[in-house]
Amino acid sequence: MLILIVEDEKELALSIRDYLKGIQDITCDLAPNFSKAVELTELYSYDCLIVDLGLPDGDGLEIIKKVKTEDAQTGIIIISARDTLDDRLKGLNIGADDYLTKPFHLSELQARIASVLRRIRFDGKSILKEGVLEVDTVQRKIKVNGKEPDLTKSEFNILEYLITNKNKVVTKASIAEHILGEYSDMYSSYDFVYTHIKNLRKKLVELGCPDYIKTVYGTGYIFETA
Ligand code: CA
Repeated sequence: MLILIVEDEKELALSIRDYLKGIQDITCDLAPNFSKAVELTELYSYDCLIVDLGLPDGDGLEIIKKVKTEDAQTGIIIISARDTLDDRLKGLNIGADDYLTKPFHLSELQARIASVLRRIRFDGKSILKEGVLEVDTVQRKIKVNGKEPDLTKSEFNILEYLITNKNKVVTKASIAEHILGEYSDMYSSYDFVYTHIKNLRKKLVELGCPDYIKTVYGTGYIFETA
């Protein structure tokens, strides 16, 4: 999962990043100001944005408006010391999914992220059924015909990402970006994506799962059950 933290308090931004990294396979990019946030959101498509409203060079609300217009699938959580009803309503009205007042517990933030993403992607369901596949997005486990294959974190993340984009072609670059975030630019080829997908398909097929992941030659992959 790829998250962007837009926050000018460096210590807070780093503690959020370290906390999230420790729990799940979450990659966090950091934007310490408005202009960096705009630059990164134009380059990458994030699963979730955590946005502070008071930034040194602009208003976090403007970023939220922009991102929600371009990609409604991105979850947005405001973190702010501004705790008036007016600020909350303004934030939620322009498309933020949730609002946390500073200071907050990191575990609370993590719970809100999970719930926002479930709501956006899976209508609030934590267990998805796709053909013979059962994906538990909270425990981060899957079952095929009742049996549990042993997936690596990257394999699980790729599968979840493909299912989220079911019936749509997903490029290798966007899969790489989804796993690695800003660092995906450091790789000159996406061979590692190919390897993860190959292993993932093999593990599923071995348990009797139809090969739902199809290669789209020269482009990427598509998840289709029909
Ligand atoms: Ca601030």
